[in-house]
Amino acid sequence: MFDNLKKAFSNVSTGFSEKDLNEKDIEDVLFELEINLLESDVATEVIDSIKDSLKEKIIGSRVEKKNIQNFVKQSLIEFISETFDNAGHVDLVARINEKKSSNEPFIVVFVGINGTGKTTSLAKVANMLKNEKLSVVIAAADTYRAGAIEQLREHTNRLNLKIIAQNYGSDPAAVAKDAVLYAKSHKVDCVLVDTAGRMQTSSNLMEQIAKITKVVKPDMKIFVGDSLAGNDTVNQAREFHKQVNFECSILTKSDADARGGAALSIVKVTSSPIIYVGVGQEYDDIVKFSKQTFLENVFESTDIDVPSLSEIKKPQPEPEPQPEPQPEPQPQPQPEESDDPFKGIETDDINTYADLYDVPPPETDNEAKNLANKIKKWIQDGRPKP
Ligand code: GDP
Repeated sequence: MFDNLKKAFSNVSTGFSEKDLNEKDIEDVLFELEINLLESDVATEVIDSIKDSLKEKIIGSRVEKKNIQNFVKQSLIEFISETFDNAGHVDLVARINEKKSSNEPFIVVFVGINGTGKTTSLAKVANMLKNEKLSVVIAAADTYRAGAIEQLREHTNRLNLKIIAQNYGSDPAAVAKDAVLYAKSHKVDCVLVDTAGRMQTSSNLMEQIAKITKVVKPDMKIFVGDSLAGNDTVNQAREFHKQVNFECSILTKSDADARGGAALSIVKVTSSPIIYVGVGQEYDDIVKFSKQTFLENVFESTDIDVPSLSEIKKPQPEPEPQPEPQPEPQPQPQPEESDDPFKGIETDDINTYADLYDVPPPETDNEAKNLANKIKKWIQDGRPKP
């Protein structure tokens, strides 16, 4: 896995240790890195950032020759780590559970080009949510590609899930809306909407996704990208992100990916995280994306015994004379205050009470306070049935 990327980064570390660190040598090593990264499917703008960041660190440092290999490795690790951290974090299951407490279904729209593994990934996610005890309905909103509805139906049959479908050529937004209405009336936790992956033109495709979005107002849009399609995937991610503004991605076929650059490129180019990685063709072959695992795959070991970059980068200035330390002011005890009137009440109790007494979700703060008080009293009274 990721052999190309591993080789590219290892070559640059040794490259620097074998050369003098004059400008010409630095340029030579960075040029070689650029070629290796291109072969690993790293997007050009990402390569430029990596090169700039390395150059700045090396030129600005006074690192000794014997430490340079580790210094470069650590600089690369820091760059990659920051790239993933800056993209943020999305927890799909937590988000669905959050919305579940408001009795509304969580709506996810899957977007991506045909053949990337979008339908398979949707089925894998559905299966995973089912294992998390969340109920799921699937909307067959790719009404364009022949076979798309049957393919999805085959997954839902195998997974024993409800599918909402109409005929080919029907309005995908109407199919998605039907699925949402079904979810609302049957108290289903989550709606997963499959969408077309190709149409007559790319603008037709984007307009169709925009219409679905307008009609069902999804809580999350997920882009599905194929890690084997290299720079095509990065270009698709960039285009979909611009047009559809998806929140996160699933990267498929990582099990067969020898290059490894797609994950880094998609995240950097879209500034949004990868949440899951497809690692095979079975329903269970999906894992949460982990920055640590990525770094371990690429660098083998991520603990390096060198001073941290900030310590070696710049000569330390003479310490300024410090004023006499003042005694720290003691924190004043604050009155306990909570904005959440339901604080301290178990979610199970809220749900049971709402079901028993058929209570609609509160719409104002006052209603919420009243409801919370009623539930507290009900718990005190031993949770009686009506
Ligand atoms: P779609 O056209 O984007 O909906 O793509 P499909 O879901 O039909 O997938 C295309 C092919 O990729 C199928 O043969 C899938 O089994 C395969 N596939 C999807 N995800 C993965 C994965 O993570 N690893 C591997 N090895 N194959 C995958």
